[in-house]
Amino acid sequence: MDIVTGFMIWAAEASTLGVLLWTRWFYERQSYYLTWGGGFLLHGAGIALIAFRGAVPDFISIELANTAALAGIGLWVAGMLQFDGRRVEPFVAIPALIWIAGMFLNPIRETFAYRVALFNVAAAVGYSVLIAITLYRQTGSTFTRRVFSGFVGLQTLSSLTVGVMALINQPEAFDSNSRSPWLLMTAALCFVASVMSCAKLINERSEAKLKALALTDPLTGVLNRRGLIDEFHRLQKNDCADKPLIALLQFDLDSFKQINDLCGHQAGDAVLVAFSSVGQMSLRGRGQFGRMGGEEFASILRVADMVEAASIAEAVRTTLKRQPLDIGQHKLTVTVSTGIAFAGAENANLDVLLSSADRALYAAKAAGRDRSAIGDAGEITIVPSIDRTEPDMADLDGEANRQVAALKRIAAIGH
Ligand code: GH3
Ligand code: MG
Ligand code: MG
Repeated sequence: MDIVTGFMIWAAEASTLGVLLWTRWFYERQSYYLTWGGGFLLHGAGIALIAFRGAVPDFISIELANTAALAGIGLWVAGMLQFDGRRVEPFVAIPALIWIAGMFLNPIRETFAYRVALFNVAAAVGYSVLIAITLYRQTGSTFTRRVFSGFVGLQTLSSLTVGVMALINQPEAFDSNSRSPWLLMTAALCFVASVMSCAKLINERSEAKLKALALTDPLTGVLNRRGLIDEFHRLQKNDCADKPLIALLQFDLDSFKQINDLCGHQAGDAVLVAFSSVGQMSLRGRGQFGRMGGEEFASILRVADMVEAASIAEAVRTTLKRQPLDIGQHKLTVTVSTGIAFAGAENANLDVLLSSADRALYAAKAAGRDRSAIGDAGEITIVPSIDRTEPDMADLDGEANRQVAALKRIAAIGH
């Protein structure tokens, strides 16, 4: 096989990939497809022009062609930055700039062997930057990322070998070194392997996105029922000795049907979205919040005791009540009732928790709504609250006393 055939195979491979990636962009509109596709097309065009040495002016086949091939490598780096949601930095131009700088030095520009060495060093620098970008992530690198980096690493080595061999053998034109077509083939195989592992990286990303989508409620963006169920199983396995209980808080917006009837379904939807953000904010760092369906939401979390669960439910309830929601022209004060159930994490059963929370919720509704109730072994207790005067507490004066009494009663249920 002669070197020109090797170059043409490489160029055809790269250009085909470039076109495929651009086609993919039509379906997914992710900028990294455009960048990677552009990188492959530019690289392919550069390699093809190098293969046309003699048939096209030297300036095109040498200066321009190598710049294009190296700028293509820079675009692969840029695409990887975009893939990771990072900003494209000027350093992606380094491989092409190394070549351009070399072209200003006469001895390098005039000597074939030096040019081969310079091109391969510039390519190796580009590949090394690509490896660094791929492996450097805040969340750590995955197995596929390491495999991809491994193949790019082999390519780096093969580029460096070609470069060093050129310096040792001092060839004067492509065909004077019989081993270089085979080295080129090795590099091309590595190239295919890196492309395949990169495709796996993209697939894993798509799968993760689909999975997240399947666990997310489309209207509010919080977890859906399936997401909450997964969360329950995850929490059950968590080893968390200082929080031995799993609590299920079931929230149901009060008289929600009236909001729909009076303000319209869209306003109802807006209330669901607003409540979701109240729920998420109140739960942040403590547990997961999600939508079970309709105007029913739930939260699953590990707690030290039921007082903790009750105070979180109360935090959600009072936060919602205190901030009237701006829904179109309406300013609505919305309230929520909560049913709380809990169990030791190891032997918790989701169905039992759900029905216990449901019964507690029903009791909270029956007691007048806008309150939380705890279900514990068949007994249901309404959580005393500081924003409500309970008849049996009328003799206690002041909010502080009521709060202390509330906490004492919750603690009493706990025992
Ligand atoms: P309660 O205080 O007893 O909970 O009364 P409620 O009106 O909140 O409960 P009910 O179960 O009677 O009504 C729930 C309403 O929620 C009925 C249904 O039309 C409405 N709903 C369910 N899903 C959605 C939704 O996605 N968007 C909107 N806007 N309304 C919904
Ligand atoms: Mg309901
Ligand atoms: Mg309701």
